[in-house]
Amino acid sequence: MEGLFPQSRCGYVRVAVERGLDRYPSGLTYALDDELADVAVGERVIVPLGRGNSRAEGYVVETFPEVESPAQIKHVLQRDPGAPKLPTDLLKLAEWIANYYLAPLGPTIAGMLPSAVRRGTGSVTLRLIDLPELPGTEPPRLTPKQQGVIDALQSLSSEQRPVERRKLATMSNLKTCGPIDRLVASGCLVETKRTAIDAAWRQATPSQVAPPQPTDAQQSIIDGITQELEAGFSAHLLRGVTGSGKTEVYLRLIDQVIRRQRIALLLVPEISLTPQTGGRLMSRFPERRIAVLHSGLTDAQRNQQWAKVASDDVDIVIGARSAVLAPLSHERLGIVIVDEEHDQSYKQDATPRYHGRDVAVRLAHMAECPVLLGSATPSIESWANATRRGTYHLHELDERAPGLTVPRIQLVDMTAERRRQQTNQGSPIGPTLEQALEDTLQSGGQALLLLNRRGFASYLACRNRSCGWVLTCDQCDVTMVMHRHRDLPRGGFVRCHHCLSEQRVPKSCAACGGAMGALGLGTQRIEESLASRFEGLESGSTLRRIDSDTMRTAEDLHSVLEAFGKGTVRVLLGTQMIAKGLDYPGVRLVGVIDADTAINLPDFRASERTFQLVAQVCGRCGRSNQPGRAIIQTFNPEAPAIRLAADNRYRPFADSELEDRLACGLPPGRRMARLVIQDRDEKRCQSLSEDLRHALQSIGEDQVEIRGPVDCVISRLSGRFRRQIELYSESAPALHRTLATTRARGFLEAADRVTIDIDPISLM
Ligand code: ADP
Ligand code: ZN
Ligand code: ZN
Repeated sequence: MEGLFPQSRCGYVRVAVERGLDRYPSGLTYALDDELADVAVGERVIVPLGRGNSRAEGYVVETFPEVESPAQIKHVLQRDPGAPKLPTDLLKLAEWIANYYLAPLGPTIAGMLPSAVRRGTGSVTLRLIDLPELPGTEPPRLTPKQQGVIDALQSLSSEQRPVERRKLATMSNLKTCGPIDRLVASGCLVETKRTAIDAAWRQATPSQVAPPQPTDAQQSIIDGITQELEAGFSAHLLRGVTGSGKTEVYLRLIDQVIRRQRIALLLVPEISLTPQTGGRLMSRFPERRIAVLHSGLTDAQRNQQWAKVASDDVDIVIGARSAVLAPLSHERLGIVIVDEEHDQSYKQDATPRYHGRDVAVRLAHMAECPVLLGSATPSIESWANATRRGTYHLHELDERAPGLTVPRIQLVDMTAERRRQQTNQGSPIGPTLEQALEDTLQSGGQALLLLNRRGFASYLACRNRSCGWVLTCDQCDVTMVMHRHRDLPRGGFVRCHHCLSEQRVPKSCAACGGAMGALGLGTQRIEESLASRFEGLESGSTLRRIDSDTMRTAEDLHSVLEAFGKGTVRVLLGTQMIAKGLDYPGVRLVGVIDADTAINLPDFRASERTFQLVAQVCGRCGRSNQPGRAIIQTFNPEAPAIRLAADNRYRPFADSELEDRLACGLPPGRRMARLVIQDRDEKRCQSLSEDLRHALQSIGEDQVEIRGPVDCVISRLSGRFRRQIELYSESAPALHRTLATTRARGFLEAADRVTIDIDPISLM
């Protein structure tokens, strides 16, 4: 054999093939020919795959000079010329993620890269024009057109500038940008280039105000963590009530880090929803290179931001979950900060099912720098790390920042409210909340109203009590949700919020032929009832609804928030989207229409979620010297999660919740993994799940408890039956051994039918 291919082998590479082959979780080995001898780790190559040798792409993750049986090894076909090279640090993190979350490496790497990066799409830059800060030398004689441009700019306030080049041309009645370009060339105007996203944020940013002087409590936290900046890995949990100045602590630490010529990484939940954090960052560090990574960007924008980070042309990286996978050099990383660390959006619900916060901690470990997790309502996992295991340093801010008032929080027992209204049906907004809303609007304040459900009504049911038929999705075992639409027959349509299929509203009950009625309530129904009850509240102008039905794009959201910030929108009604990080001084009233939505979920985190929701939403008011008020409607006023959240007592809640979890052997007491088995055929789903259980059992890891299989809470989704097996163990390695061995034996091969979720968040 050797004689036949005298010079053909110039080394070997391990390639993480992108196609989802669970059989080769860590990649496949290929040989390199002469002309590819210099292929290096991080390059994307094309290789033959499978019996048919079809072409497949993948990244090189390792190179080595020799292998044991070279004769059986296929050759790399070619380099992928379009793809950028990945930094080795990023590949290291990818390998960790693939191992920890038991995801195949190739698809994991592919999923880390914005698709535009792989395709190499071009980027969009805005050219922004402004007057020079100091008038330069005596201006040359200007043509009338040039003078027109200068006049147009001078007529604007400093907040309205700079102006995008083409827009400026239009404003100055010019057909071309020639006169503007000549003014820039002669130094009469200055041009800066920015990405579209930067520009949008900088525009949304209030003109710069002097940063506040940190309080003693803030300063000692800043000092404490600053001392650790040069000292390798350390993990910190900052628990501070809403409005206590956590973000200010982050900004000061970021400042310390970039002064040391290092990079700061700031993760925030779904950044498109929090333009304020981005805006504050931009206005605090106007001279710094800031990269923004989140899902609201266009392909081109994302590509550009990614490239900025990859080429090390950056001081601060801010983004949502996926920003933890930015192509950063570990050597330059100086701090990782995770804001609202409890937020569920950090967990990805597709392969690889990683948790952005947990990866952030790992990343800091690899990069040997501090990681800071912040929240008003830390996850019980992080609380355990900070108070039991002692692996995190705990820092606390118990007072709101100077100038902010403490909101008055009132629990309203809805059973009593219904009695007052003397009706059982009752309006979803009880008399107390209604009165408070009235008062708030009369005194010129703004209000936020939170309801956790979209749509007009939760579901449609037969009005005939002895029948009780409920309209469910024919592909999933969940109820269909009513959405109103004026132009449709019978006033709307129904949608399944899981598989998104839609149907017309049925004329009559499918079981008894009786009339159908809408039950439960959703944001859309409340919107209608508010608009009809309050004069001066008009849907679409002074009253706006924010949920995933009305907010299709980041721009939709930005424009509503902008209008709310200006005060033209008086009442903002929404799902939990509005509970996060909004910071508007005009808000005097926050109403939680139904605090009970989460508490009855079949999920061991139901109390934790309820506490978080109530505490976070109450933090949205009183963000100025105007006193704020929060009203929480509930049928469970005695439930500890609701009572303690209303009293702003996180510690007693978290301590007792942690005790309960430890007593029941639930996370964070033990590690958990969840396997979901899906199949269109119910019998096959059952037998697959039984087989899997036996396979897991046969490994004989006695430190692992196996529960199930049982039907999932949502036992059918998009036409597939679903069963689950849960694994628990005090030892993470034992859990991993069990799963890795099961996989090695081929029991998880039907990867499209079995999903593995390590440290699951959603148990539906
Ligand atoms: P959190 O992130 O904990 O909700 P923020 O950092 O957003 O709190 O602070 C809330 C408000 O208080 C912001 O408007 C912020 O500028 C202001 N603030 C923070 N720290 C101080 C301080 N030391 N003095 C005065 N105002 C402060
Ligand atoms: Zn469905
Ligand atoms: Zn019926």
